[in-house]
Amino acid sequence: MYFLSTRGNNEKITASQAIIKGLSSDRGLFVPSEFKNLKSELKNLVNLDYKELAYVILKEFLTDYSEKELKYCINSAYDENFDTEKIAPISKVGDDYVLELYHGPTCAFKDMALTIMPYLLKTAIEKNNLKEEVVILTATSGDTGKAALEGFKDVDKIKIVVFFPENGVSNIQKLQMKTTGGDNTCVVGIKGNFDDAQTGVKNIFADNNFNKDLKEKGYILSSANSINIGRLTPQVVYYFYSYLQLVKQNEIALGDEINFVVPTGNFGNILAGYYAKQMGLPVNKFICASNDNNVLYDFFETGIYNKNRELKLTTSPSMDILISSNLERLLFEISNRDSKKVNSLLNDLNEKGVYEIDYDMRKNLSSFYAGYSKEDVVSKTIKEVFDKFGYLLDTHTAVAYSCYEKYVEDTKDDTKTVIVSTASPYKFSKDVINSIQSIDCNLDDFEIINKLSDLSKTKIPGPIEKLKELEIRHNITCEKDELKSEILKFLGK
Ligand SMILES: *Cc1c(COP(=O)(O)O)cnc(C)c1O
Repeated sequence: MYFLSTRGNNEKITASQAIIKGLSSDRGLFVPSEFKNLKSELKNLVNLDYKELAYVILKEFLTDYSEKELKYCINSAYDENFDTEKIAPISKVGDDYVLELYHGPTCAFKDMALTIMPYLLKTAIEKNNLKEEVVILTATSGDTGKAALEGFKDVDKIKIVVFFPENGVSNIQKLQMKTTGGDNTCVVGIKGNFDDAQTGVKNIFADNNFNKDLKEKGYILSSANSINIGRLTPQVVYYFYSYLQLVKQNEIALGDEINFVVPTGNFGNILAGYYAKQMGLPVNKFICASNDNNVLYDFFETGIYNKNRELKLTTSPSMDILISSNLERLLFEISNRDSKKVNSLLNDLNEKGVYEIDYDMRKNLSSFYAGYSKEDVVSKTIKEVFDKFGYLLDTHTAVAYSCYEKYVEDTKDDTKTVIVSTASPYKFSKDVINSIQSIDCNLDDFEIINKLSDLSKTKIPGPIEKLKELEIRHNITCEKDELKSEILKFLGK
């Protein structure tokens, strides 16, 4: 077992090296050389808790980590950081199941991987005798930044710098980032939009002189974004976990196929589900749910990926994305691992902003169904589900829920279905409450949060409740061409 690039440069590296590198030197993504099939072992896994199961799954990917190392990483991540021992609990809502991936320290699904990735990286640094300190650079539109900051704060030999668009994230998201503790963290608001932040960071990664200069000063740059296998592989775990929980609770029989509905942006979450299926998890369909930015919907419908369109800002900002990076890994699998094809498609994307897959590749997409939800439907869905079941969906999960309703209408499929929930409704309180009732527009964020709690009779998550009392520790802003100097300032160089 080793990792190779989707673009076929014959690089073969270990998991720990892939976690340090992030991206292959040919700009491709690292993929596992094979998938271990666990189908015949599923019956032995039903009674495992989240951590035990995480070990069983992760050891098939991260094969150069020792049992001790891997268990150390798992145990350090999935502990009291989460507000439930189940880590990823399931709620029954009507006849369906909602897999809640928002019980971690920042109340969004990014925590499922970003709580463990820092430990995986730290272990990788030690294993590979890296002399330099690692500086994690992250551009964020909100959720990733805070989850990465929480995960990496106070981790030895690692520093983290997060750039966010000063006027492009929610107040709660901004407050979450600016109040982060730890001596190794740096948070910078950029006078620009998310694209400016993202492009700025990408340019820094590609800037050989800057990287050389940093290396001489004892630092190497790395990234915590969702193309790193240190983020992808931990996400495979909860697909198995939710399936096995349903078996344990006698909701399904071992071997039954189920559906997963996934609110999708960068295609990392749903791809981890697809990897779980490659490993023998019985899945009927993956329903890929998009918001108004329906690039993926068009792709699954027509075989054409076309990013030449305007990015729309929606109430589900973590899915406002036009280039779903992890789709490259799916292209690799559906072309039967033909890196020539992948290269040619990604070149088209680069040069023309569009590519089209061939008939053979399309045939291999049969386990996917795609949908998208417009803003009024998202809002209506939040209200309907709350009125009917007393269950609060956040805006991203509501996108998934309404796509699933349309799927059932279209196909009459009555397979048991898990809707993957990616954020606490409290993270998007204003849009959630506005969907249910009209409120006084003068209320501040914390008044809205209290109101949401009264209305839904649910508890405000600890990390959000606490925000009010935390002091602002980061107040740096910079122009969009000043990222490098901010990094150097932070490193004291
Ligand atoms: C990141 C995120 C998504 C999208 O996940 P991908 O892995 O990028 O497809 C969906 N919902 C929320 C709340 C997120 O933070």
